[in-house]
Amino acid sequence: MTVPHTEHESFKAAGRAQALALEQGFALCGVASAEPSAYADDLKRWLAEGKHGEMHYLAEHAEVRVDPGRLVEGAVSVVVVADAYHITQPRITSNQHAVGKVAKYAWGDDYHKVLKKRLHRICNALEETYPGHTYRATTDTAPIFERELATRAGLGWTGKHTLMINPRHGSYFLLGTIVTTLPMQTSEIAGFPAPLGPPTDHCGSCTRCIDACPTDAIAPEGYSLDARRCISYLTLEHRGPIDEQYHQPMGDWLAGCDICQDVCPHNRRRLDAAASGYDPLDVHARYNTHGVNGRFELLDLLCWTAEDRRRAFTGSALKRIKLEMMQRNALIAAGNALAERDEPALREQVVELASADNDSALVRSTAQAVCQRLGLTPE
Ligand code: SF4
Ligand code: SF4
Repeated sequence: MTVPHTEHESFKAAGRAQALALEQGFALCGVASAEPSAYADDLKRWLAEGKHGEMHYLAEHAEVRVDPGRLVEGAVSVVVVADAYHITQPRITSNQHAVGKVAKYAWGDDYHKVLKKRLHRICNALEETYPGHTYRATTDTAPIFERELATRAGLGWTGKHTLMINPRHGSYFLLGTIVTTLPMQTSEIAGFPAPLGPPTDHCGSCTRCIDACPTDAIAPEGYSLDARRCISYLTLEHRGPIDEQYHQPMGDWLAGCDICQDVCPHNRRRLDAAASGYDPLDVHARYNTHGVNGRFELLDLLCWTAEDRRRAFTGSALKRIKLEMMQRNALIAAGNALAERDEPALREQVVELASADNDSALVRSTAQAVCQRLGLTPE
């Protein structure tokens, strides 16, 4: 049985974890110590202010979230990996009909699955070399501060928009972790992936993400987000009617929002490279194989049945969005599109969904709000 206990062994274990992560196609990998979060008080305050909205799970497991040792008893190390996702512009299928957009991370297969399978392979390989330890893989599925751990593992810093930014490759990453009792040397000491030392904040005096956020979800001084105002939260997590003050700012977003990342200067290099057909990062093929492709015709979506939704979202991270939530989002996007340019069939469908015959109170009330804004009369 090999159990690392010397400093040399824990260096080797960190190197082995990184080699396995690269073998699995992760773009970045680092190791952090499993110390409790430095942001426990900030989380408490944020929750007390209700800024998590309906994401009650964040409050329920707050104490575990701030201490990896409570997730895995005896945890001493956390391996943090990052997958680059697909960012080239989607193919525009039609310029005749109004379309709505999906955030880039959801264009491919469900990242939970794409990440988890490969994290489990790393856990199994580590278990083989270092048996007798606990290895727990998480992908946004367990209460753990992945972003903070990623910065501690040297993968980047947390930007004013609250996402992790790698100094070379920007912020279009999905994070996963392995919390383990296996002692490993941290990235900072082991000197990988790029020895950032204590993660340096390269935001400086920039405020582009704060200025560009259409719903003012980012705090004026940055580094804190009011989830209740964020389009990602409103379209994906919030189940009820969306407050009308957000309808116009939501633009054509149907699921998620990329604006604060798209305007970030640290993403420019990768966006420009990807637009010219070269992406400096290897993107796992499964982030690019799903049919979602970043765009949906709004009229189509407003006519979907439950079966259409199921078929369109099979294998996608979007499958957790209920049909009526997706149609609520599509109605808001349709209202914004119709305010710019009339599309008779789309307008008629919005009016029809506003009628008293519509069984979905959520869809009906959203359609009615859109009709009112556009001066249309529901039948
Ligand atoms: S995702 Fe969109 S709405 Fe949310 S903070 Fe970023 S820019 Fe604002
Ligand atoms: S846009 Fe500017 S302030 Fe916002 S995360 Fe990027 S560098 Fe930081």
